[in-house]
This record gives sequence, structure tokens and C-alpha cells, in this order.
Amino acid sequence: MTTPPICNYEDSDYQTSFWDKGGREYEDRTEAIALRRLLPKRGRLLLELGAGAGRNTPRYRGFERIVLLDYSRTQLEQAQGRLGKSKRYIYVAADAYRLPFVDGLFDAATMIRVLHHMADAPAVLGQVRNALASGGIFILEFANKLNLKAILRYLLGRQKWSPFTLEPVEFVKLNFDFHPQAVRNWLKDLGFAIEKTLTLSHFRVGLLKRLVPTGILVFFDSLFQWTGAWWQLTPSVFVKAKAEGGTLRAKDEVPDNPLLFFKCPECGNSPLIDETDYLECSGCGKKWAVKDGIYDFREPMGSKSANQQRHPVR
Ligand SMILES: [Zn+2]
Repeated sequence: MTTPPICNYEDSDYQTSFWDKGGREYEDRTEAIALRRLLPKRGRLLLELGAGAGRNTPRYRGFERIVLLDYSRTQLEQAQGRLGKSKRYIYVAADAYRLPFVDGLFDAATMIRVLHHMADAPAVLGQVRNALASGGIFILEFANKLNLKAILRYLLGRQKWSPFTLEPVEFVKLNFDFHPQAVRNWLKDLGFAIEKTLTLSHFRVGLLKRLVPTGILVFFDSLFQWTGAWWQLTPSVFVKAKAEGGTLRAKDEVPDNPLLFFKCPECGNSPLIDETDYLECSGCGKKWAVKDGIYDFREPMGSKSANQQRHPVR
């Protein structure tokens, strides 16, 4: 099966260079506020897509268990170092175009700063819909092409692409901005009902961030986030959507053994057979490695793929 190219953060120092030392405290704090406003107060099992080094994971307090999914093993190792190995966290290295989960498993999912690396966004959103139970909540962040800066640049003739059209724009290799209406259309087509929209990073301007204390910018951003219900002109947009339709309801109890979460990403067969160092699919015979507490569904054991693009930190 061929899937679009993947933006790979393997061996990237993204957490340190972008978040810890990159002057992103303002963005980080406004995201924390948006998550508090959108996340259900409690739940059983949450899927965090593109969890990276686990920056947002401690914010999912109300959930009993969390599956951290990322394509990069080294990012997940950093998350393990931060959050520890416990029953509460399940670490999965996998391709978002081929999620290794049985249908209707999760009662919530989050995907923050991830969609903008997806060459085929609707395909990934469809995978998320399948993994969610009916009534499940999906919190999606996307980079907005219809932002004020892009509109001004376009009107002044300093930018070729139009921020007003629905198609995604790839401004750097494997970095996409999306039109809010296009994202809404995809979600609706997949059976999601949009419950809330917040706009973030109203003040993502270098000069402002240097001159105005972060706390003040965060305060005003948190007020302005609610205007997302009427218009979305900021570089970052959060959407809360509810998975509708389908017959699968969230189960009263999540299976204790995470083995029962998984299906074979190659052929869809479940359950997989636990062979300690790997999980084996009785359908297609593929073997999926389990190493140092990380389930690895990227490529079956004994094969190697070149379908990836190193992540340029920006
Ligand atoms: Zn299989």
C-alpha cells in the first residue's frame, strides 16, 4: 500500500530548539488555554496524534489512559523520559495514514500542529474518525492559510498564492496551510459535527512578542480565542468536533491489555498475537516490533522504507 510522504522528526531536537529555547512560550500557553476550553472533563482513553516529546500530554489530566502516537521513535523516547513508563501511557510509533487501532476504540483524540505536515489531510482525518467511537470528541489544530498576514501580503502583491481559495498551500516542502472552510468540509463529509472553533496566536508577531510581556499577550489572546466562532483570521485554529453516526459506542471499560487496542495496519486483522518482542498478525503474517515499551507499526519487521522526509525545524 502506498501512502503520501511522511514528515519525519526522527533524531530531531524539535522539543528543545522549537519549544524550550525557541521563544514559543506564548504559543504554548495559549494552546494550554484552548485545550482546557475544549477537552472533555474526563474520559477513558485518549489518542494523541503526533504526540512528539509529550509537550501537551500532561494537559490531558481527566483521561484514564493516553495513547501517544508519533512517527518518530526518538520523539517517543523523549516522551517516555518525561512521562515515565506506566500503564497510563501507551507509546506507539505509527503512520497516521495507516492507524493500527480497532474501530471505535477511543472516546477522544487530539491532533495539534500535525495536520500541517499532511499531504493528504482528508485521508488522515478519515483514519481518526474510524478510531473514534460514536460520540467521541476530536480536537484538531490546523495552520490557517486565511490569516491576516497572508491576506495583506497577497493584496500587496508580495505573495503569489491566494489565501481565499479552498486548496491547501505547501509553503515549504511538507508544510501546509489550510482554508478553514476546507477543513470544515472534510470533517463534515467524514461524519463529524463541529461544536466549537477557537482562534489562536492573534499576536504571533516577532516585534510584539519581544516588546510586550508574554502574560499580557496570553491574556488578550485568551479573550480573542472566542471570536473563532465568527471568523478565523489567525495563523492557528482549534476545532472541537464530535464523531457522529456509526453503530460503535464507547465501551464502558477500555480493555486492560493494550494488545486488544491494535489491529494490523497492513491487513486490518485483529487481535494480534503477543510474542513478547513483537506482535504477529495471523491474517498476513506480518510482525510488528515491540521494543523498550514502544509498539512499532511503521514497517513490519525485516523491511525498510524510504517514504519519509526529514523535518526542517522552522
Ligand atoms: Zn496483517
